[in-house]
Amino acid sequence: MEPWFDTHVHLDAYPAEERGALLRRAADAGVGAVLSVGDAVGPAVDGVRVYRAAGLHPLRSDEYAGTGTLASLATGPSVVAIGETGFDRAGPPLKVQARVFEGHCAVAAKLGLALILHIDEEWERIRGFLEAVGSLRVVRHYFTGPEEQADWHAEHGHYLSLGKPLLRMPHLKEVAVSYPADRLLVETDSYPLAGRTTEPRDTGAIGEAVASAREWSMEHCREQLWTNSLRAFGL
Ligand SMILES: [Zn+2]
Repeated sequence: MEPWFDTHVHLDAYPAEERGALLRRAADAGVGAVLSVGDAVGPAVDGVRVYRAAGLHPLRSDEYAGTGTLASLATGPSVVAIGETGFDRAGPPLKVQARVFEGHCAVAAKLGLALILHIDEEWERIRGFLEAVGSLRVVRHYFTGPEEQADWHAEHGHYLSLGKPLLRMPHLKEVAVSYPADRLLVETDSYPLAGRTTEPRDTGAIGEAVASAREWSMEHCREQLWTNSLRAFGL
């Protein structure tokens, strides 16, 4: 059977000495690849490929230094995506976030990389800005929004990545059932946080929820999600 692919992990947020153990636990749980958002390439762990996304989280939009700097970060080893970028209500003013977002879109287009989209802002306030993604390969990460938003992404051919909220939010099960099968991804969005135990080894639990929602065999589910992940990131 194909392994699981955790499409969103913040390896950078863990102390360097913990990353190896984290990835080994993931390997033991059948995870064969993770996408690390940030600079950490991670220690080599048998059985787990570590890919990277380069970019600036919308909460850090004030630190943006332009497309030249971003493009140079994005030419580092194992970079397969730009992001995460997008909009967050706790971030700087929307017009600042929009400028940074447009810069990320431009670099992703120039380098032919996927764009990882973070949205934690009212859809109506940002909807116009989202057109900047054009025809990029887009991954809407950690989707928890309403079905209308999923429909919008589906119409644009975007990938939709589901995390553990799928296990507790009933409407996400509907999204998992109706979203185009070849555009679904799973992720843990792992980072250290007091009281939160989520880590990449949990990817399989999310995948199993997708399989159960769609009435797929586990083998089919693993193959579909793995193939989708490789395609999303141009691998
Ligand atoms: Zn993230």
